[in-house]
Amino acid sequence: MNIAIIAHDKKKELMVQFCIAYCGILAAHNLCATSTTGKLVSEATGLPVTRFLSGPQGGDQQISARIGYNEIDLVLFFRDPVSPEEREPDLAPLLKLCDIYNIPVATNVATAEVLIQGLARGDLGWRDIVNPKKGAIL
Ligand code: PGA
Repeated sequence: MNIAIIAHDKKKELMVQFCIAYCGILAAHNLCATSTTGKLVSEATGLPVTRFLSGPQGGDQQISARIGYNEIDLVLFFRDPVSPEEREPDLAPLLKLCDIYNIPVATNVATAEVLIQGLARGDLGWRDIVNPKKGAIL
């Protein structure tokens, strides 16, 4: 599976700790991320991470485009809901595309844990059934 990782500044350390904790599961998948998040995760875990632009420079949109091309299977986006400087409107297109294409998306660490454990169990195969790009029922 192709997993996209994004974390706002105040959530980056949490994302790093999360990826260290679940490194064994993540290692079996392809990781991509916005620039700084990817750098931090890669340095902390040793996992290869394909890095896009930084979020404020368009990295969110690059990941959104890949969702549209059916190249992303899971999104972990730890957003900071309280800092005014974070770009709440920028999130909307990415989250909308996740809903259009039935991409599991976690915007906080609690949901991310559920998704990663489900991924490890093989629970996310249902996406192949309902994903319109894979020829089916939506
Ligand atoms: P970054 O981008 O990983 O390059 O910091 C994410 C963001 O802060 O939007």
